[in-house]
Amino acid sequence: MLKILKTSIKYLKDLTQLCAISGKEDEVRNYLKNAYTKLGLEVKYDELGSIVALKKSDLKNAPKVLVISHMDEVGFVVKQILKNGFILVNTIGGLTLSRLPSSRLILKTRNNKTFYGTISALAPHLGTKDTLKSSDLYLDFGFTSDKEAIKKGVCPNDMIVEEGRFIKLSSNRFMAKAFDNRYGCALGLDLLDALKDEKLPFDLYVGATVQEEVGCRGAITLSHMVRPDICIVLDCSPANDQSGSKNDNGRLGDGVLLRYLDRGTVANRPLLRLQQDTLDELKLPSQFFTSPGRTDASEVQMSHDGILVLSHCVVARNIHSPSSIIDGRDYESARLSLVAIMKKIDAKKIEELRKETVYGRD
Ligand SMILES: [Zn+2]
Repeated sequence: MLKILKTSIKYLKDLTQLCAISGKEDEVRNYLKNAYTKLGLEVKYDELGSIVALKKSDLKNAPKVLVISHMDEVGFVVKQILKNGFILVNTIGGLTLSRLPSSRLILKTRNNKTFYGTISALAPHLGTKDTLKSSDLYLDFGFTSDKEAIKKGVCPNDMIVEEGRFIKLSSNRFMAKAFDNRYGCALGLDLLDALKDEKLPFDLYVGATVQEEVGCRGAITLSHMVRPDICIVLDCSPANDQSGSKNDNGRLGDGVLLRYLDRGTVANRPLLRLQQDTLDELKLPSQFFTSPGRTDASEVQMSHDGILVLSHCVVARNIHSPSSIIDGRDYESARLSLVAIMKKIDAKKIEELRKETVYGRD
């Protein structure tokens, strides 16, 4: 029976509880750096802050395979501290503003002090607005004046995220903030664990990018740095399965996504086929999926003279909220199939995939 590993749960629990909005990914990067180093891997960075671990092949001129996920999550930064202690913010990434009032928050100052608070909501007695702008949000961390907040080290550009602790809801379901995309960060570590004692016919780069939620920026710099022959992007996509219909696009518990079309990519067909075949061979569930959003894959595919990219995603309900929910069996399916895909890749396979991508090419 398919069941998520205890080590995967530990990675997910640790990683979802770290705070890392776009451009301030230090906590996640540090966690990954320690994990990569423990595995004895060489660690590199690009100049924006993306991180990558290298598991080198013994082969000379081995091809390069890059597996990435983004570290950042949506949130806010401090814009202005009002005289009465309320804080105004800029939003970072896609947030549904109407659900934000009363949400619990964590503020981290640049000197790493932590404060807890909420978003002030107008009491229903006083009339609530149906549509909110970010300038309608008044954040309350208990400061009674601007002076108090400033004295405690709060200043513009400090990071704020919603609190969303990790909870096991049932034997297969887990709720927390930031499964988008600590799913991918955790799975990258699981992949390295699974291949720890393997000799690979390619240089394996497993890493994590910055600033995906604001425009997939770290993917651009990291793919330029590594220049992989193949890249696999791990990300967490939005479930849309409330109706219970088999036709719903993105059903929790129904397996890995065959993400064939989104706003930034038309999937590479040979790689999509490899993914589907691998899942079928392992008798793991999979589902075709389209998205109006995009992932780091959209940028990686266009770096250099084009790179073969595959998205290896699962869904979560309520992504970009403190209460996103994933299914442990989806995660385990993604892990098993990712490891199996890796075992099919070598220089010859990459050449085949290249030829199939540009049909008719010698
Ligand atoms: Zn994502």
